[in-house]
This record gives sequence, C-alpha cells and structure tokens, in this order.
Amino acid sequence: MPVRGDLRELPGYHSPQVGAEVRLNTNESPFAPPAPWLAEYLDAVGALAWNRYPDRQATALRAAIGDFHGAPAERIFAANGSNEVIQSLLLAYAGPGQAVVVFEPTYQLHGHIARITGATVVAGERRDDFTLAPAHAADVIAGAEPAVTFLCSPNNPTGVIEPPEIVDLVVAAAPGLVVVDEAYAEFSSWSALDRVSDEGRLVVVRTFSKTWSMAAARLGYAVAPTWVVAQLDKVVLPYHLDAAKQLAGTLAVRHVADMERRVSALVEERGRLAAGLADLGDRGVEAFPSGANFILVRFHRHDARDVWQRLIEAGVLVRDCSGWPRLDGCLRVTVGLPAENDRFLAALEEAVATPGRRVASLKELA
Ligand code: PMP
Repeated sequence: MPVRGDLRELPGYHSPQVGAEVRLNTNESPFAPPAPWLAEYLDAVGALAWNRYPDRQATALRAAIGDFHGAPAERIFAANGSNEVIQSLLLAYAGPGQAVVVFEPTYQLHGHIARITGATVVAGERRDDFTLAPAHAADVIAGAEPAVTFLCSPNNPTGVIEPPEIVDLVVAAAPGLVVVDEAYAEFSSWSALDRVSDEGRLVVVRTFSKTWSMAAARLGYAVAPTWVVAQLDKVVLPYHLDAAKQLAGTLAVRHVADMERRVSALVEERGRLAAGLADLGDRGVEAFPSGANFILVRFHRHDARDVWQRLIEAGVLVRDCSGWPRLDGCLRVTVGLPAENDRFLAALEEAVATPGRRVASLKELA
C-alpha cells in the first residue's frame, strides 16, 4: 500500500539517542525538578480517578499556566510537548494549498510538521551571523502570502534572540498567523508574550521540556488569541492530555522561584562555557553568541564530524549540525552541569590540539 504521495520523499526526523556519560545534545535541563514538586505530584497522582477520562479542557492546567503569565485561561492551549502545539497550529491553519514561511537555519520541525500537513514550506535565509534582514523577511512574506510564519526566539540551533523590531515587522507584514517559538525564552532577555492579544495574529509557544526540567513529561503550550485557541481545541484529539500530565504541569508552576534559580545557574554556566570556547579561538573554534541553554560552535580548522567523534570517544555527546543547510562545520552543545561543561571543554581542547584529521573534499582529492 503506497504512502500518501507527498510523504514518499519526506525523510523522517532524526535526532539520534546515543548513549554517553555526558549528554549535551538535546538542550534538556541537567537539573531534576524540585523535590517538593515531586512529592506533591506523587500524592496527587495516587488520588486520581484512574477509571475516568481526564478533564478534556485541562481546566486547572490552563488556569495555572494563565496565572503564571497573567493571561486568561481562554488564551492558553496545552498539548503533548510544544511539538504537538505546533502540529495543532499547522493542522488548523496550514495544510494543502497553504504556504508556511520559516527562516533558515532554524528549528527543523517547523518545516517538517508543516510538510506533513501538506503545506508548502517557503524558506527565507538568515544572514551569516544568523540574524534576519528586515527587508528580506518582508520580501519572503510578501511573495509567499503564508498562512503561518514561524520565528524562533532564541533560535534553535543558532542561539540568536529575535529582536522586538523583527517580531513587530513580521507581524505587520504577515497576512496569517505569526508563531514565535519561545522554547528557550526564560534564558533570554525578552519575550514576545506581552504582544499576544485577541486583536492580533501572534501566537507564542512555550514548553515544560527545558527550563521546567520536565522533558520526560511531554508538555507544552501556546499563549494565543482566544479565537485561535478555539480552533486548536477543534483539531486536537479528544483527551489528548492525560490526567497525570495535567497534574504535573499544574503543580510545576507553583515552583517558579526554583525554576528561576535553575535558569540563573544555567545562564551563568553559559557564560563560563562561552569563555572556555573563546579561549580556543586561536584553534579555529568560533562560538556564536547565545540567548538559550546551548551554544552553536563552528570549526574552521577541523572537520566537525571528526571533533564530534573525538568527543564521543571522551564520553561527551553533542549535536552534530554539520550536515544541516548553512551549518557546515557546526556542532551544538547544551549547557550542562559545571562538571559536565568542564569535561566537554577539556575533551574539546584535546580534540582541537592537533591540526585535525580534516576529511578531504572530493574536489581536493581530484
Ligand atoms: N521548539 C524548539 C525551538 C525546540 O528546540 C524544541 C525541542 N528541541 C521544541 C520546540 C520541542 O519541544 P517539546 O516538544 O519537548 O516541548
């Protein structure tokens, strides 16, 4: 039985889960969530009516997230990770015959999920420093007339924070929804959240996977105009959010100070990691500035895949982005615990100490 025609050539999403002692490849938090949260959760889970379907509207969870952001619950849509939020947005607003704009390099799943819904993805390009040129953004949007335009701030995998002027320009230029993926916003200096209103077309997407230390729970949400939330409620499967997960999220946002402490610790570590990488500048190591919990690194004198391999041999797993468009020679490292970051820096220093086993290109061999 042949698969749907437009899916035949579409590759799957690949993020290898390789075993390693130090895992700095998927931008998770290195910290466990707070012990009091776990105790509250275990109590509440024991008292659940397991024979009943969960609250379909996730009323308590939406209210808790709304309270956390000072937004009405009607403006909150929660789902199984921000990926499912993105999928719901694209199911409701994209699909066959619709265009979706992304600006590369950016989070691969924006374009990937859009294609799965049957939409046409139109990719604009970022500058060499991965910022977005306003005139180019406006041109791409004018040409594509997208149903959905994605921004990602801070952008994965580059770390660039999208400035408010760019968000405003894109919102003014785009005829459809503008989705700002803020998976890493708590690590950054500003958020577009204040700009969400019922009169606008801006949607902000967040996750519990990073700053809330709850990647295992698979929980994300959108802060969106109420009329968007109503459409998302239509396309999502009934009872998609299980009762235990709803509890996990509702209880998590009672521990804001703890989350903020973890974020501060990681921001400090990010500075230390950036300084360690800057020290390797004379070895052709270029680290891009980051507003997130990861740093993109380009190797000018070594083959990035070779460096990746050497790091794995030293027990450190980072993300190899070198095969992605515009990211030749690049690896991305997540900020971990101080000892993990030290181990990464030591292994990296070792890996770039020698001139490197540069893999010759076909052109050079000819
Ligand atoms: N958006 C961005 C920019 C991400 O980097 C990620 C995770 N890597 C996600 C969304 C998805 O997060 P989750 O589905 O775990 O909420």
